[in-house]
Order: sequence, then C-alpha cells, then structure tokens
Amino acid sequence: MNPLLEINHVSYAYHSKAGETYALSDISFQVMKGEFIAVTGPSGCGKSTLLSLISGLLTPDAGTVLLDGKADRSLNADIGYMLQKDHLFEWRTIYRNVILGLEIQHKLNPDTLARIDKMLTDYGLSRFRNSRPSELSGGMRQRASLIRTLALNPELLLLDEPFSALDFQTRLSVCDDVSAILRKEKKTAILVTHDLSEAVSMADRILVLSRRPARIQKILDIQFEKKGLSPLQKRNEPEFREYFNLLWKELNDSE
Ligand code: ADP
Ligand code: MG
Repeated sequence: MNPLLEINHVSYAYHSKAGETYALSDISFQVMKGEFIAVTGPSGCGKSTLLSLISGLLTPDAGTVLLDGKADRSLNADIGYMLQKDHLFEWRTIYRNVILGLEIQHKLNPDTLARIDKMLTDYGLSRFRNSRPSELSGGMRQRASLIRTLALNPELLLLDEPFSALDFQTRLSVCDDVSAILRKEKKTAILVTHDLSEAVSMADRILVLSRRPARIQKILDIQFEKKGLSPLQKRNEPEFREYFNLLWKELNDSE
C-alpha cells in the first residue's frame, strides 16, 4: 500500500525584514491511510509550520510533500483543517455554520446535506441546528467545527491544538468524541498537541520534534494490548504511563 502522505527531506525558513527564522530542517515521514499521527515538540519549534506545508499554504524551501503521490496541492478539498479556535460565525445558526464549506465550494446537494444531517444526529447536535454558536458549550462547538470540516469529506485532517482552549473536563470528553468520529469515518489525521497525555491516548504514532529548527527527534509507535479502547479508557492502562514517561524524557532531553 502506498502512503497517503509522504514528506521527503522538507526544510523551511521564514524570511522577514527582521531576519530569517529557520523553522524546519530535513523532515521526512510517511502517513498511511487511516492512521492517526500526533506531532509534539517544544513551543515555537515549527509544528504549525509543518501543517501549513502539508496543507499547501506554504511551499517547502527544499524537499517534497506528496499527497496521494501528487505534489500539486491546488485542489485543496482533500485536506481539512481544524484549529484551536472553532471559527464558527455567530451570525449563522449551527446548521448554516456546518454547511458553510459546502456552500463556498458549491457542493450543496441532497447527498451532502443528508450526510450533514446524519452527522448532526450521530454527534448529538441535531437539537441545536437552529441555535447560535454562543448557545453551545465549548465541546459542542468543537464538534460542530469538526462536522463542518468533515462535510467536505477531506482525505486528510490537520488538527492544530484543537482542544487547547477547552477546560480539562471538556477536553477529555471532546477527545473521546473526536477520536470516535474520526475512527468511524475512517479518516487519516495529524494532530499537533503539546499535551503528552492527549498524544498518547489518541495517536497510533507520535512524532517528537526537536527545538527549532525542528528535526524529527523520535517516532514512537503507540500500541495498547487491549484493542478498541477510547482515549479516556487508555488513560487507565499500564502502557499509558510508560509511553507518557518515555515522551516526557524525550522532550526534556531536547530542552
Ligand atoms: P509551533 O506551532 O511549534 O509553536 P510555529 O510553526 O508556529 O511553531 O513557528 C515556528 C517558528 O517560526 C517560531 O519561531 C515562529 O515565531 C516562527 N514563525 C511562525 N510564523 C512566522 C511568520 N509568518 N513569519 C516569521 N516567523 C514565523
Ligand atoms: Mg503552533
């Protein structure tokens, strides 16, 4: 099987009047279809930059980023982006927020709308379709934001610290929700997080980046003996602490 995403020897520097910021140095990795990858590393090391390069918002100075074997990222519907802020519009109802991407891409049709309806029902938001974002809890808003992203049926999801604005309790349950949704929809995802527990409990594989300019310091395969556990359940397994400690040590060695 060919990888869905292939990053080959990618480097990137920002150029500005103030000077040059060397953000990524010779990054290579592959992501298979259906995999859930977490990316972690020190603050400011280049994690968001990596996602921007994958999405095609930025072009690498050196190296290549191939999605489905192709370097051309002008047809960007294959990639969904979810950020820390949910970017829901208060002047639109939840329903009109989740159909926004489809509307912009002229993809509103009975099939796509039926898919939206099903997701709103499956993910507990159908009662809120006519509510405004401010009437929803933080966790519900992130679910709405995820449905909006999934509505375009992206091949690959890029999640840039999407839970970090939520309080701890909400974060735990939203992680469970999002993880269940992504597994059910068989999505491939790359999650940037500085929360090691989140990385260990959600990912199949964790990339640890070094300080800037980020190199890949370590790739950690995450496997729990029990299968099909939710992120919350994984937190109670013995492997959880082992992986957490490994990662902790890895990140502190890089400091
Ligand atoms: P992370 O997401 O890991 O916190 P970023 O990828 O956002 O880090 O940033 C990596 C480095 O590049 C940081 O030092 C940041 O200040 C710098 N940087 C990010 N965006 C820009 C930009 N548009 N122009 C110049 N420097 C930037
Ligand atoms: Mg960032």
